[in-house]
Amino acid sequence: MQTYKMFIGGGWVDAASGGTFETQNPYTGETWALIPRATKDDVDLAVAAAKQAFHSGDWPKMHPSERGRLLRKLGDLIAENAEALAKTEVQDNGKLISEMAFQLRYIPQWYYYYGGLADKIEGSVIPVDKPEMFNYTRYEPLGVCVGITPWNSPLLLLAYKLAPALATGNTFIVKPSEFTSASTLEFAKLVEKAGLPAGVFNVVTGFGSEIGDALVTHPDVAKIAFTGSESTGRRIGELAGRHLKKVTLELGGKSPHIVFADAEIDNAVNGVISGIFAASGQTCIAGSRLLVDRRIHDEFVDKIVKLAKTARIGNPMEADTQVGPITTPPQLQKVLGYIDIAKQEGAETVLGGGRPDRADLAKGWFVEPTIFTGVKNSMRIAQEEVFGPVLATIPFGDEDEALAIANDSRYGLAAGFWTQDIGKVMRFSAGLQAGTVWVNTYRAISYLSPLGGYKDSGIGRENGKDAILSWLQTKSVMVSTARSVANPFIMR
Ligand code: NAD
Repeated sequence: MQTYKMFIGGGWVDAASGGTFETQNPYTGETWALIPRATKDDVDLAVAAAKQAFHSGDWPKMHPSERGRLLRKLGDLIAENAEALAKTEVQDNGKLISEMAFQLRYIPQWYYYYGGLADKIEGSVIPVDKPEMFNYTRYEPLGVCVGITPWNSPLLLLAYKLAPALATGNTFIVKPSEFTSASTLEFAKLVEKAGLPAGVFNVVTGFGSEIGDALVTHPDVAKIAFTGSESTGRRIGELAGRHLKKVTLELGGKSPHIVFADAEIDNAVNGVISGIFAASGQTCIAGSRLLVDRRIHDEFVDKIVKLAKTARIGNPMEADTQVGPITTPPQLQKVLGYIDIAKQEGAETVLGGGRPDRADLAKGWFVEPTIFTGVKNSMRIAQEEVFGPVLATIPFGDEDEALAIANDSRYGLAAGFWTQDIGKVMRFSAGLQAGTVWVNTYRAISYLSPLGGYKDSGIGRENGKDAILSWLQTKSVMVSTARSVANPFIMR
């Protein structure tokens, strides 16, 4: 059994209370590590360390080029340790080694990209409409920022937040999910090795229900960047509003995946399968609502069922496994609960619909790839996020109806569609209410491209050049060039 410590103020510490909690392997169900269980006292220590690092010592004095160099060094260290970090993630969240190894090899790009941007953040000179006045702007960091991450892709979702936060000169505290804290603590060892000043990056581990409010409402915290469930996002948003904190929220979705009759069908079949069964459906961008042109509906459903049946379910640590377990026991119950709901609502199960009946998978938290047909968009299975390998299929008649069904959702994180018609590509992409639209592909993510939600899927954007502005505040400086001060009783 491995025992971890938290990383606060550049040192490795136990929780002030001495408390710990267990973390389990979703494939074996076995406890493999002990994680410190932080309380408000640890939050206070971490915020104090991050505050001190923001105001004094090397960090605030450091030239942005040097900050960029440190981030690139951190990126190199992640690349060198990608395989080990990926294995830790698989052990903790049960996602496929093939997926996590890809993610870990890709994550350094966030640190290279935002490291490169660090010294290109330039204010402007404004030809202000005042005589003898010189006006310029400065972009300045916010201060102590908090990242709260979920269990599905801990280090990738941390990179979305940490790389731009540090590039802009903020200091940072991350609270990873209580289900998957180990990889973030392993990552902190690389931050230490990269030589970032003490207190610039801190990890506090524990339960959201116990320390979440303390982190979000702390008077010395300037911003919270959250990825996770809608309910937690709403709570964080409410508290952030009440305490006037800046906030970005990346919440879930019920993303429509639309197949038109003129699509390149075999490609669409692959795309739809990857959209819902990759990562066992545990991604915020999962294409969980399949909308298919009525004319090809039966043929298309046959094809996806046939392909999904060939999926190799098993040990996520093996390179050729295609579907792994669900990450947490509560999530397993949630997914099974939604399968029951869909059945009660009258949807027809054409694939899966329960736990796999295989002795070698009995200890793991597995759910079969499941496909429902005969779904109406008003059903709960079409409106609520399952976050599991469960696809709800809905037929449509024409383009207008497809768009109406696609947009008839509280969510708007992502959408995908398949067609060979270029006019439809442009029309339909413009009509979809979603932060990311994929055409003839699905689940493509880049550090260069903004990601975030329309409607209830969130607030703000991560990734890409513009995201850096959400970690900065603008100062306008007015310098008088006049030799004397005019009438003191009027506005200038
Ligand atoms: P969650 O929202 O409960 O947890 C996400 C993070 O928020 C964790 O670090 C958790 O400790 C923290 N947290 C929990 N309560 C908090 C509070 N009151 N204040 C501050 N932080 C708090 O989500 P989860 O348990 O990881 O997953 C539950 C559901 O969330 C899933 O079923 C799925 O629908 C959704 N989910 C979405 C994403 C996404 O990327 N959008 C990722 C994982 C899970």
